[in-house]
Amino acid sequence: MTDSFLKKSAPIRADFFEKQAELLEKLAQEGQSPEALFIGCSDSRVSPERLLGANPGDLFVLRNIANVVPPYAHSDAGTTAVLEYAVCHLQVPHLIICGHTDCGGIKALDTRLNVEAEPGLFNWLQFARPAQRQVEAENLGDWERHRAIVERNVVQQLRHIQTYPFVLEALEANRLELHGWVYYLRRRLMGYYDPVRDRFEIH
Ligand SMILES: [Zn+2]
Repeated sequence: MTDSFLKKSAPIRADFFEKQAELLEKLAQEGQSPEALFIGCSDSRVSPERLLGANPGDLFVLRNIANVVPPYAHSDAGTTAVLEYAVCHLQVPHLIICGHTDCGGIKALDTRLNVEAEPGLFNWLQFARPAQRQVEAENLGDWERHRAIVERNVVQQLRHIQTYPFVLEALEANRLELHGWVYYLRRRLMGYYDPVRDRFEIH
């Protein structure tokens, strides 16, 4: 008996193991020291390694629906454990929260969330609700509205992450830098949050 799903990628893996043998051996011997914690959406089109040209060992990654970080007081053990490991143990110098347009989570938050049918999704997305409320008052077209909620959600999650005491400590000690990004999927562009101008700039 074979695992057909695993089997179909065997040639790609063999090539990868051969070409990266030296790096993989080094990482196995010395352990990891990633440059960043990347928090992104679970969406299959968001590929942090591809977007950043990252190799094994470069990125510590947390992905969930709509790149959410619950406030510390309401966090789940999984999220807190990743943050503790990245910030306290690995001491990553950069922490990135990356949203993306055409995000199903954000669309669900803004249109058709059914608490009875999808209680997990409903409860999780409440951590992004403030972003939607901020945009609600603005009279925007569908696309602009979606883009604005995606962007505001990144800013909201940047706020949430600063409620974790060990994150604050690392920021105050200048050993951690926060980044808020948006991947504009259809335009194939990346944007970053400029806190001084309170807006996203295309890079
Ligand atoms: Zn998404």
